[in-house]
Amino acid sequence: MTFDKNLVCHECQKLFVFSEGEQQFFEQRGLTNLPKRCANCRLSAKFRRNGENLDNLHKIDCTTCGALTVVPFKPSEERPVYCRACFMKIREEAADKDSFSEIAV
Ligand SMILES: [Zn+2]
Ligand SMILES: [Zn+2]
Repeated sequence: MTFDKNLVCHECQKLFVFSEGEQQFFEQRGLTNLPKRCANCRLSAKFRRNGENLDNLHKIDCTTCGALTVVPFKPSEERPVYCRACFMKIREEAADKDSFSEIAV
């Protein structure tokens, strides 16, 4: 049985939620360490590693849950943008639909 955990991000020192779903995701991958950074800092670190220009990052509110997240593109107004958790959920639900296009990381 897992529960949502509140963790402190080592980078921005803010509290973030290590959700039940994420914990299961970690478990499935055999990861035993707790995440050190919040989703936003993890994303920024990933973009830095990939050599993405951080100036291109846009802070957006997830269309579904309203969580603040960053995307490496300028979101267009008519397309929904999701945080990572919602994106993964939607992708799972749409796994058998070929028409689904990837828009988030
Ligand atoms: Zn952070
Ligand atoms: Zn969301």
